[in-house]
Amino acid sequence: MTGNVTVLNADLTVLHTVSLNHAIRMICRNVAEVHESTDELIGIFIRPVSVRLLKYVVTTWRYQRQPKWSKSAVLRRDKYTCAFCAGKATTIDHVLPRSQGGGNSWKNTVAACSPCNNKKADRTPEQARMPLLFKPKVPEWTDLYTKKV
Ligand SMILES: [Zn+2]
Repeated sequence: MTGNVTVLNADLTVLHTVSLNHAIRMICRNVAEVHESTDELIGIFIRPVSVRLLKYVVTTWRYQRQPKWSKSAVLRRDKYTCAFCAGKATTIDHVLPRSQGGGNSWKNTVAACSPCNNKKADRTPEQARMPLLFKPKVPEWTDLYTKKV
């Protein structure tokens, strides 16, 4: 059973996503109720798309601050997949190369394998004619720290 369920705060602001199993446990414990669902049944449950917390949760710093950038966190965010060839990534690449003013930030770095990293060298994806397979983004905490279901 896979798939993510969006968790909404009691005021319907989006907090984060959890696994389907986690969402069902929240419903069973009366922590949350189904907000949106599909027609699909899972056992006796309607498969939720989003759940709403019954009590308002004051969002903690975890949800307000973005996770700290690091090379290993970029690899985790991109699931160790090279952004250029979808091979196994072992390093990271600066989309805008450091030599052209690009820095260490979530949106300027992607996971890459060494051959692609070497091939791209000090060029942008356009200059190197190596389009990105996915756009780098600031990850959610759950992207980095929740285990796969
Ligand atoms: Zn590659």
